[in-house]
Amino acid sequence: MSDHHIKQLSDLTDEIVACRMCTRLVDWREKIGKEKRASYKDWDYWAKPIPSFGDPDASLVLIGLAPAAHGGNRTGRVFTGDPSATFLTAAMHEAGLANQPTSEHREDGLKLNGVYIGTAVRCVPPGDKPTAEEQRTCLPYLVQELRILPNLKVIMALGHIAFRAALQTLSDMAEEKLRGKFMHGEVYRFGHTLPMIIASYHPSPRNTNTGVLTKDALVNVLKKAKELSQS
Ligand code: SF4
Repeated sequence: MSDHHIKQLSDLTDEIVACRMCTRLVDWREKIGKEKRASYKDWDYWAKPIPSFGDPDASLVLIGLAPAAHGGNRTGRVFTGDPSATFLTAAMHEAGLANQPTSEHREDGLKLNGVYIGTAVRCVPPGDKPTAEEQRTCLPYLVQELRILPNLKVIMALGHIAFRAALQTLSDMAEEKLRGKFMHGEVYRFGHTLPMIIASYHPSPRNTNTGVLTKDALVNVLKKAKELSQS
């Protein structure tokens, strides 16, 4: 990645972290940061928007829904310090996309290989349910980010909201409405000038504890996404 791209990403990250556009989410993220979970009472919660994380030369981008209240909102890194992160990082490690199987805190040594991870909405929403307006307000950050990444080939969308955000992002890039129906493991191609999308169920406890998404199923989609992004 060129110095120009690195500067662009860094400026965008600064802008995202300082964002206070969604009043409801700003109040919520800060309330959680003050009240804390008892088991994390000694933590100084991040309680700000969560920037994306990973390899800026990535050809594969993973998009989640939003930071977890006591995961990303506490640690300041996306998919870090919560059960979804534990499940996803172990699967990424097995698929050869991460140097270690755990994601606990910002200084834990985790490095992603050819992958960049972000979320459709950068602030934790009450009940993990951002409103349609909050999703619309946050989407331009994703559009800008994906435009900067010079090697992007594949977007892996984790869950329905991330899938819609990925479709909308590519629609904005293409300046035409792109359509697709979410199906786990499905690949969506939109021509040679746009990245493709691959869909997966979100690795949330709701899905992983009920068998909707097993570790093997997630590893398989990650391996498929990796192969597509490197072809
Ligand atoms: S969700 Fe996005 S747009 Fe809304 S306050 Fe957070 S960073 Fe800003």
